[in-house]
Amino acid sequence: MRFDVVTLFPELVETVVKCGVTGRAAERGLIALRQWNPRDYAADVHRTVDDRPYGGGPGMVMKGDCLLQAIRDARQENPGKVVYLSPQGTPLNQALVSELAGERGIILLCGRYEGIDERVVKLEVDMECSIGDYVLSGGELAAMVLIDALTRLLPGALGHHESAVQDSFFDGLLDCPHYTRPEILEGMEVPTVLKSGNHAEIARWRKKQALGKTWRRRPELLQARQLTDSERVLLDE
Ligand code: SAM
Repeated sequence: MRFDVVTLFPELVETVVKCGVTGRAAERGLIALRQWNPRDYAADVHRTVDDRPYGGGPGMVMKGDCLLQAIRDARQENPGKVVYLSPQGTPLNQALVSELAGERGIILLCGRYEGIDERVVKLEVDMECSIGDYVLSGGELAAMVLIDALTRLLPGALGHHESAVQDSFFDGLLDCPHYTRPEILEGMEVPTVLKSGNHAEIARWRKKQALGKTWRRRPELLQARQLTDSERVLLDE
């Protein structure tokens, strides 16, 4: 999957392809990252990318002209959707990540300051996406969140032991608790069933834990999901 990121801080976004799952995916050619800095399109000697807002008020606004040129150049190489990372956008969740993972490429537009000139949104943005109801200083961290979440779903990006199908939200539930050695940590023991070698019992325990945790922490997820008869029994036990 190809990511083209329009950003004033390419050095920040670059780190996403330097380590971990996304780093390995980049090395193996599963993802590619190219960045477009609006500053490279600024016409004046100071390479100005922001200006005062019409109507007054605090802060600066990212200028539309250099953003439009950067996006349009990115579009020449990436036919994917243009996604503006914005606190006003559609809240990101696993369902939206799965939907976007079907794209071959995506152009991520990162705002700074008070945001970007609204006409850029009207002219070139296909969707706005928020990573949560809080305000960041820029869209870069949000773009990196999206790149990471999308990469995890690409075939071959995760090793078997990291498989995305057992993660929270994949089947509409939170993940079960995990344990590793040592068997006793500060007096707390690993649940006996996990050491039993009985795979059916382990799977049952994990499902029960996942159901219970989801019910306690995120009951609305259970309401949105059709429980099977056996899951209902486990939850009621
Ligand atoms: N004035 C804007 C508002 O209140 O909607 C906030 C601007 S914010 C300081 C600067 C940039 O950070 C935004 O243009 C956007 O790209 C990014 N950003 C901030 N919060 C975000 C969030 N929750 N999700 C995605 N992007 C966000």
